[in-house]
Amino acid sequence: MKVLAVGAHPDDVELLCAGTLSRYSKRGDEVTICHACDGGKGSLEHTTEEIAKIRRKEAIESAEIIGADSIWGGFIDGEVTVDLKSRIKVIDIIRQTDPDLIITHSPNDYHADHLNIGKLVFEATYLACIKLWVTDYPNTDTVPTLYYMDTLAGVNFNPSEYVDISDTIKDKVNMMLKMKSQLGFLKTTHNTDAEEFIRIAAKFRGFQAGVAFAEGFVQQQMYPFGLTKRILP
Ligand SMILES: [Zn+2]
Repeated sequence: MKVLAVGAHPDDVELLCAGTLSRYSKRGDEVTICHACDGGKGSLEHTTEEIAKIRRKEAIESAEIIGADSIWGGFIDGEVTVDLKSRIKVIDIIRQTDPDLIITHSPNDYHADHLNIGKLVFEATYLACIKLWVTDYPNTDTVPTLYYMDTLAGVNFNPSEYVDISDTIKDKVNMMLKMKSQLGFLKTTHNTDAEEFIRIAAKFRGFQAGVAFAEGFVQQQMYPFGLTKRILP
């Protein structure tokens, strides 16, 4: 199976669904992590150009921990809008990876970039397979399954499916710890310790699911529904 996770900024996918991605990777599935934005606003000490470069490198190294590919979606931090140009960009992210499954931000998220990336991915998931939507990449053959990942700290999100990440929580933490530039930034701007944040959120979802650590998801319903089956690991 080919799995594509699309997060707005370098650290969203790591905070919200990396344990599940690690499970896919461990069982032999192909995983691509797309950070839609460049991360160029996430620093109190570097310039936009400097921090974007640093975060791109961190993203690649973080993805390497689980043997995933890392790509940048071509968006700028804070400037994601739902328009035709953006839609074509996201169609091409999907077409170049040709996934069976996509994970992205929930419509219940609160951050404008998260909301807009989630919306763009939802639109593009179907449109990527339309042959007469001509872009730089050929159309995909099928409409991939789309799942929404949790929101930060589970705010306003009620999972309908859970993935047991008890065996991969270490990978998830290590992936986030590779994002060194964000650890101090999160602490200073949000008073958040990234590792503690991951462990508490996964522990709570695990408590709901009856396992040690879990991640929660909601599937986007789309025609054709297919027969009920487990797609998440
Ligand atoms: Zn974000």
